Amino acid sequence: MLVSPSATSYYLGMAVRISRPLLDAIHAQASAAAPHECCGLLLGREIPAESTVANFARVSEIRPAINVAADPLHRFEVDPALLIATYREARAGGLDIIGHYHSHPAGEAVPSAVDAEMARAEGEIWLLAGGDGTLRAWRARRGGTLHGRFEPVELMTGSPQPLLARAVPERHEDAGIA
Ligand SMILES: [Zn+2]
Repeated sequence: MLVSPSATSYYLGMAVRISRPLLDAIHAQASAAAPHECCGLLLGREIPAESTVANFARVSEIRPAINVAADPLHRFEVDPALLIATYREARAGGLDIIGHYHSHPAGEAVPSAVDAEMARAEGEIWLLAGGDGTLRAWRARRGGTLHGRFEPVELMTGSPQPLLARAVPERHEDAGIA
């Protein structure tokens, strides 16, 4: 599996942190579902900014979902029963649903134009698994650089230290965002 941090620019301050075992689980689900697209929910917390440290989200759990799309070869739709149950858990004090993941078994880990039409919630995390095993994270954002709807964000594994140690001004320059 390959976690690609190679996007040319990241949406500043919207990194996504997730553990290696969870990424492995998503990768395994995507492989098992192919050639159908797999999907699931990302649960966790948005971590607020602290002085010079930008916001990021931490994915603590995933909920693999049945893809109930009519055409699962080219579309995904999270089983609404799972969605409702997970929202109920969140309201009862559980983790928030901060995004979802799905696979493109014959494509890249990049949201498609169809995905852009489906994107509703601003700031939602879209984690994509490509057919080559690459995993990449995106945030839904109006006016984004991809389809006017998404921004690539950094996908981080491991401890928080690497993000905290990173110099924010450099990230500004890297991101090319004024
Ligand atoms: Zn897609």
